[in-house]
Amino acid sequence: MNDLPLLPNILAGRPQLGTGAGTILLDPVTGQGLVRVSSAGLDLAEGFAFAREEGGAALRAMSYAQRAAMLGAVVKVLQANRDAYYEIATANCGTVTKDSAVDIDGGIFTLGYYAKQGEALGDATVLLDGERIRMGKDPVFQTQHVLSPTRGVALFINAFNFPSWGLWEKAAPALLSGVPVIVKPATATAWLTQRMVQDVVDANILPPGALSVVCGSSAGLMDQLQPFDVVSFTGSAETARIIRSHPAVAERSVRCNIEADSLNSALLDPAAAAGDEAFNLLVAEVAREMTVKSGQKCTAIRRVFVPRALYDAAAQAIGAKLAKATVGNPRNESVRMGALVSREQFDGVQAGIAKLRAEAEVLFEGSQQPLVDAEAAVSACVAPTLLGTRTPADAKVLHEVEVFGPVATLMAYDSEEQAYELIRRGEGSLVSSVYSVDPAFMARAALELGSSHGRVHIISPDVAASQTGHGNVMPMSLHGGPGRAGGGEELGGMRALGFYHRRSAVQASTAALDALAASAVVFKA
Ligand code: NAP
Repeated sequence: MNDLPLLPNILAGRPQLGTGAGTILLDPVTGQGLVRVSSAGLDLAEGFAFAREEGGAALRAMSYAQRAAMLGAVVKVLQANRDAYYEIATANCGTVTKDSAVDIDGGIFTLGYYAKQGEALGDATVLLDGERIRMGKDPVFQTQHVLSPTRGVALFINAFNFPSWGLWEKAAPALLSGVPVIVKPATATAWLTQRMVQDVVDANILPPGALSVVCGSSAGLMDQLQPFDVVSFTGSAETARIIRSHPAVAERSVRCNIEADSLNSALLDPAAAAGDEAFNLLVAEVAREMTVKSGQKCTAIRRVFVPRALYDAAAQAIGAKLAKATVGNPRNESVRMGALVSREQFDGVQAGIAKLRAEAEVLFEGSQQPLVDAEAAVSACVAPTLLGTRTPADAKVLHEVEVFGPVATLMAYDSEEQAYELIRRGEGSLVSSVYSVDPAFMARAALELGSSHGRVHIISPDVAASQTGHGNVMPMSLHGGPGRAGGGEELGGMRALGFYHRRSAVQASTAALDALAASAVVFKA
């Protein structure tokens, strides 16, 4: 296996091979080794200093519009290499084409969105936050809040499920803000991230040091962080705890954004009837969410709340849709759902299902169907499983354990108030979706669920054709959630730039503030 190619890291403006045998990245369908990664032996201190000093200074010397144009050029490079990205995704992520698109084209789309939005900021190099405010009787001395790009690096420690989108949804606002990026992709699927960074660096669009990638072990990365750096972590609640308690964050106040796991929900209107529009919309969305990317989406629906009278009808309708999901090798055109990213995840999902089953009945089990072109003993393919409980108020594990695969639990509720209460047992989630024809109920649900969710996605028949999907994260809408979802905030249009800027109050004369305003633009979220 040591003859497999070793992917170079890109650090301190140059490709660098790690030492040692490294870690082998596998095809999750066949189990075959593909490439190796290693971060052993890298001079991380040199790499972080280079990014901070060379990359950061060069980026900050540009205007927002110049950096936006650079993002536009990055989009073109990525589009030109799309075929190679799809091949890597099939091999290393085990995804069918439409699932690879969510990651690859979703990432490119997000980058393009920030390129376009950034253009509107023009020649400015700093952002004005709000109006000037008088501080005393004499109007000449005023305060102006200003947002300046932070003079540090942005370290991204990313999850395995979105090697492309997970990079670009963060890198777009960081680079637009003038902050250099060092990305450490999750090892299992690092290939796609590495290849995209390599293509962009080779195209010489960004200044040296503006974009770096470190593949393999995370050892020592957090130790490099200094007070003006920022770290953005996406992954499990367990690793999030380690990041939060690291001295860089706990002692040096490095700004930290956490996107962790989440028990997202779907809620059907209490007035819905079996087979009506709201019911059908919920059924279609739940089945889609369970199967897109084999349920490996942080936003996927995990808990489905329906009025008690509709429990059996919903179980039957969702099961019927899931029965159509052929599972197996994504290279076979009849396959609609590929593999999980690794055998470790396969084991994790099986263990998770076993935990949920202690409190739930099995309503649909796709594993009775054979896999297409994949061996059950070797591949990381998992068929969808719908579980259910008629007594969700008595459940504990069902509101606590996120099974990161094609698994959801149907729950019967007795009243609108109880449904909200049960949804909030997730202790803070990324997204809840609501299905109804009644605007008054939709508005009530939005207000009830807003404080415990980053996003409330409300679906009625009039938006059925144009809605963007429960699990799809759109760059113009906020992503993140309170509580166990990590407490982070990403995207939300230009709001995303806030994480990469420092706000300061400049107290000065009108003349000084006029001079400052010449290189600034008013920030509008
Ligand atoms: P994970 O095991 O926590 O790993 C996440 C990242 O942290 C990986 O890059 C991993 O590197 C790195 N890491 C592991 N230990 C570390 C340490 N001690 N110090 C620094 N970095 C460390 O999570 P995962 O299994 O990849 O991701 C699945 C989870 O992510 C799910 O729970 C899902 O809900 C969540 N997720 C959330 C969002 C969101 O936006 N909220 C998005 C996607 C996924 P290695 O791979 O090398 O171990």
